[in-house]
Amino acid sequence: MHHRLRSLVFLAGLVLSAAPAAAAETWVAARSPHFAVVTNGGERQARRVAHQFEQIRALFQAGFKVRLDPGRPFVILAVKDEASMRELAPWYWERRGGVRPAGLFARGSDKHYVLMRLDLDDTEQPYHVLYHEYVHLVTSLNYCRLPLWLSEGLAEFYATAEIDEESVRWGRIQAWHVHQLREGSLLPLADLLAADHGSRFYNEGSRATMFYAQSAVLTHYLMLGSRERSGQLSAFAKLLIEDVPEDEAFRRTLGDAKQLEKEVRAYVARFMFQGLKAPAKLEAQAIRSYALSPADAAAIRGDFLARQGRAREARKLLEEAARLAPDLSVAYESLGLLELRDGRNQEAARHLARSVELFPQNYLALYHSATVGEAKTPEERARREKDLRRVIELNPQFPLAYARLARLLSTDDGKGEEALGLARRASELDPAVISHQLLVKWILANLGRKEEAARVEESILRTARSDPRALASVVWEYEQDGRLDEAEAMLQRAREASPRSVAVLERLAEFLNERKRPADAEAVLRDALKLQPDTPHLQNQLAYLLAEGGTRAAEALELIGKALKHEPNDGNYLDTRGWALFKLQRLAEAEEALRRALEQEPGSPVIQDHLGDVLLARGDRAGALEQWRRALSSDDLAEARKEALEAKVRQAEEKPL
Ligand SMILES: [Zn+2]
Repeated sequence: MHHRLRSLVFLAGLVLSAAPAAAAETWVAARSPHFAVVTNGGERQARRVAHQFEQIRALFQAGFKVRLDPGRPFVILAVKDEASMRELAPWYWERRGGVRPAGLFARGSDKHYVLMRLDLDDTEQPYHVLYHEYVHLVTSLNYCRLPLWLSEGLAEFYATAEIDEESVRWGRIQAWHVHQLREGSLLPLADLLAADHGSRFYNEGSRATMFYAQSAVLTHYLMLGSRERSGQLSAFAKLLIEDVPEDEAFRRTLGDAKQLEKEVRAYVARFMFQGLKAPAKLEAQAIRSYALSPADAAAIRGDFLARQGRAREARKLLEEAARLAPDLSVAYESLGLLELRDGRNQEAARHLARSVELFPQNYLALYHSATVGEAKTPEERARREKDLRRVIELNPQFPLAYARLARLLSTDDGKGEEALGLARRASELDPAVISHQLLVKWILANLGRKEEAARVEESILRTARSDPRALASVVWEYEQDGRLDEAEAMLQRAREASPRSVAVLERLAEFLNERKRPADAEAVLRDALKLQPDTPHLQNQLAYLLAEGGTRAAEALELIGKALKHEPNDGNYLDTRGWALFKLQRLAEAEEALRRALEQEPGSPVIQDHLGDVLLARGDRAGALEQWRRALSSDDLAEARKEALEAKVRQAEEKPL
């Protein structure tokens, strides 16, 4: 049937029907050379969205000549109105006063989704955030790290694109950035260049800051503002791909930073930033569109929700899809993933096997089926090896299969070299994914190639020092492997190498706290606060630590008060406040703070757990039980907390009323 398109098996695996009967809602799909769009807003819209994403892709390709295809499905869900958006991203509507985004970009390890609304007009600029995130995705396929100013500057450079059927306009500067530049005072260029994810002026949640404005204008200047400097930026980026240290790459291509600062200040003072315009390139015939059956539409929505961690809503849609079309491979793939996440390996294996049986080219289902549980017997290992090799055959660009196969082979005698090659391939395909780099390092170490292993670690540390997410994933990988001493040593080395990085200190504190060393964690957090006083999330971390310890809840309360002054409605901060008040036995106030926290973060099992404790202390055992049971039904519950909650529920149930 529709099995020809390999890179987007997801849609190809669906059973397509020509005309949905009297379904309440019609969903259609459009497929362009690089994107798949699924919408309930009609065929024209589906084609328009596919066209726009193709244009932004082509723009980036023309500018940078880099790799653009992520090697996994990329599906755009374009919905016609707020009600449809709410069905798919309910968490935004559950938070009181929360943002109602025009679109969101959900990057997954094996599949990427974009969710967007079609009914917004240009003033709401629904595409900006999507193009911005798309640029981040593409850069992550090519650079293991980019300096933050360049990463955000490039994303903003393309985010302003305006695309219609005839033309593409891009490379302007957002009005709010110009406003920021006019009203605020510029950061010194040295600070801008050195900024990392831990810097205080960086906040991905709020792009209306001087950091973004200046990153945008610096990138704009280097891209379009100076004839003499044309080509310098791509030369700089090229050296970074070759892993030349950033300072050196900067000197060799962009020259003296002081000189650049002078030029950029003069450029900013003009407040006139020319953009570019070009005709749109894509034949309308290159986009095919077709109707989806109700089963297909339910399966896609269910899959999206499953990947956003909304298991209950997802399961409903997926089961409906499987009922309407019992031979729908993708429905079983997603059902399998849901079971896998919940640790029900047998059910997961069964669904995934069914998914593969229904559509043998479904490489995602085959890949995931090769990850269920441990392969214990030699036969199981051999089967897994065969399946993973088949996944690579089906999609040679899919990095996860290389990494998984490398792991499997790395412990086999005589297969270390092959494992190394596979791990390196995974890392080439996903250069920004740290776990692949760690895998390379471990296999090198196993092979006794210590110097090469050390070089890889050096590169990993350079990334991890500036990016807390990368650092967290390094630590997580070590923890998964039970290498706690190595994890700590690595964190300490990262701290020595960049003693002023708050991001490193935060992760170290978290690590120490998890290892039941609260005093060490506290000392580290106090150092971080010395470096960056008055930083709400640091205040919150320290306050929670102090409250948890119990004896210094008063200091905790004072600290969290400061954080709440900045962010009075932050659910986590309110939770910390409630917890400190509880430890101080100020129970009525504790209850109030925790209820407010829950309004901000409905469904947070941690807050529900805390509120249960407060209610019990206030003599409301039924209320406590209700909160704990709610917490236990959460999709997002750490194992240790689950056990503690179960014990509390048992105890409260046993006591006679
Ligand atoms: Zn960004």
